[in-house]
Amino acid sequence: MHYADLHLHSTASDGCLTPTELVAKAKELNIQVIALTDHDTTDGIKEALAAGRTYSVRVIPGIELSTELDDREIHILGYKINRNSPALQKMLNRLKQARIQRLQDITKLLRENGFDITWQEVLAVAGSTSSLGRPHVARVMVSKGYASSVKAVFAEWIGQGCPCYVKRFKLTPQDGIDIIHAAGGMAFLAHPGLLLQGLTVANSLLPYGLDGVEVFHSMHSDDQIQEILAFARSEELSISGGSDCHGIGELKMGTVKISTDIMAGWLKD
Ligand code: AMP
Ligand code: ZN
Ligand code: FE
Ligand code: FE
Repeated sequence: MHYADLHLHSTASDGCLTPTELVAKAKELNIQVIALTDHDTTDGIKEALAAGRTYSVRVIPGIELSTELDDREIHILGYKINRNSPALQKMLNRLKQARIQRLQDITKLLRENGFDITWQEVLAVAGSTSSLGRPHVARVMVSKGYASSVKAVFAEWIGQGCPCYVKRFKLTPQDGIDIIHAAGGMAFLAHPGLLLQGLTVANSLLPYGLDGVEVFHSMHSDDQIQEILAFARSEELSISGGSDCHGIGELKMGTVKISTDIMAGWLKD
């Protein structure tokens, strides 16, 4: 039996393991195929591919694009993308700038709310990332003793609807699908089980050429998996799945280890 984990974040975005560490961990867990799907960046892919050769783990170049539809955040996974696509890189650069601006605004708001955190501290926690995200500022809050967990910071301060929440520029799901296709990749709806009426969302993306749905995910219940699987089969969509591992927290690599058989055709070269 061969196993895959097709949803992983590295230090290139808001994960805590480097691309090489992720590949090594996959090897250790007997996972033969992984996809690196960092938020809005492809900067970890080159290292992951090299580590994949070293450890004999197949690495699929991927991405997870944050998009927005009617004020709701929708994540689109791209697989088998050409990371050198100029159209893709142009868009990613725009998203990167928007992420920097937004995290600066959040840091400022937290300061105004009495927390002694600085932009320098956020940058220090973020390290060499290409894609700054709220988890970085949340980790500073935790390390300074202002909260017990990253999750708690989201719940009280920086999640949608919280006092220090700031919106940022996002693509529409349609733009996300188009840009993945322009880079030669396949576009999947990420974790529909975490969305309100996720299958309705998936349905609405079919006319834009959605290629598949993420059926298996650490946070999907067994019932959700069955429901999403049935939907994928009835719409003849491709199937994927992964842990959404960030290196810390609940979403650990190995919690979702899917048989490569279930992905049938699309995973093959
Ligand atoms: P951002 O990309 O800056 O919008 O931050 C979103 C990222 O933060 C997600 O991709 C998750 O990695 C993480 N995240 C979102 N919501 C939560 C939460 N409630 N608790 C912990 N982490 C979260
Ligand atoms: Zn993340
Ligand atoms: Fe996501
Ligand atoms: Fe993710």
